[in-house]
Amino acid sequence: MLECKQKECWNQFLDFIKQRCSPAEFENWFRPIVLISSTDELITLEVPNIFVREYLLDNYKQEFCDFLPEKSPGEPSIEFVIAKKVVQEPTFQPQVEVDNSSAILKLKLNKLYTFENFIEGPSNQFVKSAAQGVALHPGKSYNPLFIHGGVGLGKTHLLHGIGHHILKGNKRLNIACITTEGFINDLVEHLKSKTLDKMKRFYRNLDVLLVDDIQFLQNRLNFEEEFCNTFESLIHQNKQIVITSDKPPSQLKLSERLIARMEWGLVANIAAPDLETRVAILQHKAELKGLKMPHKVAFFIAEHIYNNVRQLEGAINRLSAYCRMMQQEVTEDIAEQTLGEMFEETPKKSVTIDGILASVASMFNVKVSELRGTSREKKIAFPRQVAMYLAKEMMNDSLMKVASSFGGKTHSTVIHAWKKVSKQVETDETLRRQILMTKRNIEA
Ligand code: ADP
Ligand code: MG
Repeated sequence: MLECKQKECWNQFLDFIKQRCSPAEFENWFRPIVLISSTDELITLEVPNIFVREYLLDNYKQEFCDFLPEKSPGEPSIEFVIAKKVVQEPTFQPQVEVDNSSAILKLKLNKLYTFENFIEGPSNQFVKSAAQGVALHPGKSYNPLFIHGGVGLGKTHLLHGIGHHILKGNKRLNIACITTEGFINDLVEHLKSKTLDKMKRFYRNLDVLLVDDIQFLQNRLNFEEEFCNTFESLIHQNKQIVITSDKPPSQLKLSERLIARMEWGLVANIAAPDLETRVAILQHKAELKGLKMPHKVAFFIAEHIYNNVRQLEGAINRLSAYCRMMQQEVTEDIAEQTLGEMFEETPKKSVTIDGILASVASMFNVKVSELRGTSREKKIAFPRQVAMYLAKEMMNDSLMKVASSFGGKTHSTVIHAWKKVSKQVETDETLRRQILMTKRNIEA
């Protein structure tokens, strides 16, 4: 969390959100929020009712975390209080932008999630071109298109991209872009008000149905059946369906019938982007925010954040907020200072004795068998001690086990070697470098 005056931070958050959602969404969900109090640890917000709180937490958690205090990683530290109702005040009703057929779509599509804003690389080229194919000829290419992949890799982005593209080509098509939760809520509401027919009519008259996060349909048997019926009705009329999920169909705990339906069309995976693509994404996002980001810095960040594009975006937001506030240029040092805690540790390869011996042998130009042997000749005994030192430093094995890997030495031999090399490293620059390079080699 950046240090900034809290009220300013909140306003910055609102400015940021305003660019990310439609005016109607902003008016419905964010405008009514009242900032009650705020410290470095906790922010208290007043919202009109419990639905607003749920909606905000379901849809904007990450954005909250990027700007506001967190109680644990990914969990914003926000206390919501519900506004006391004034008697005559009408209950809070989200105002849907009314523009007949495309009303739902307008409300739900993120305007930044277009194909143009989606950076292509080897990890997502296939799925992007499938999405573009569907958007170009809805109902005529792959149906359904099923996109699956991990969190924050661009599934929702592509889904909305399809929606934008279709809408641009034909404003009259009936398109709905829903989350699976949205579908379930809709169903609950219509069941309650005994208007299920109305809902069925609505869904079954669509030309394009875009469904986000189908994994949330798992273990919801009653809802699954209705979804499956809707699905079949649309597919039989050659209406386009696109579904996203965190897993491929076969791994979802859904009925065989629905799984089989989802596998009818094209199942496409979206994977984590490679380094080059991450750099391009960072540069693109920085440009969108008007942030000057030298290639070197983008590269530096991309090297440290690699699993999730949403985190790359969070990094840009944080960096941009910091540099704007402190009126500083973006540099590697500042990136490290402000983003250090977001950086992911490079997964360590498990270190083995064989790996250590091979690397030490090649660094000191001796044979592995000599390191394992008993020769006391200095040109062999010293590298052996270095290998023992590295084994103790880099492995979690007991000293006994390490010792036995060196031709049955005792654990005190290993300790002696470790002490000797540790001491020498403090003063011997050449040895320090040799050890550093050997370590890198072992971990590479
Ligand atoms: P998912 O739905 O897979 O969890 P999102 O579609 O919400 O992920 O993507 C997370 C964020 O990362 C979004 O803001 C999106 O714009 C961005 N993003 C993901 N992939 C790309 C990409 N290839 N190019 C540009 N932005 C991307
Ligand atoms: Mg998503």
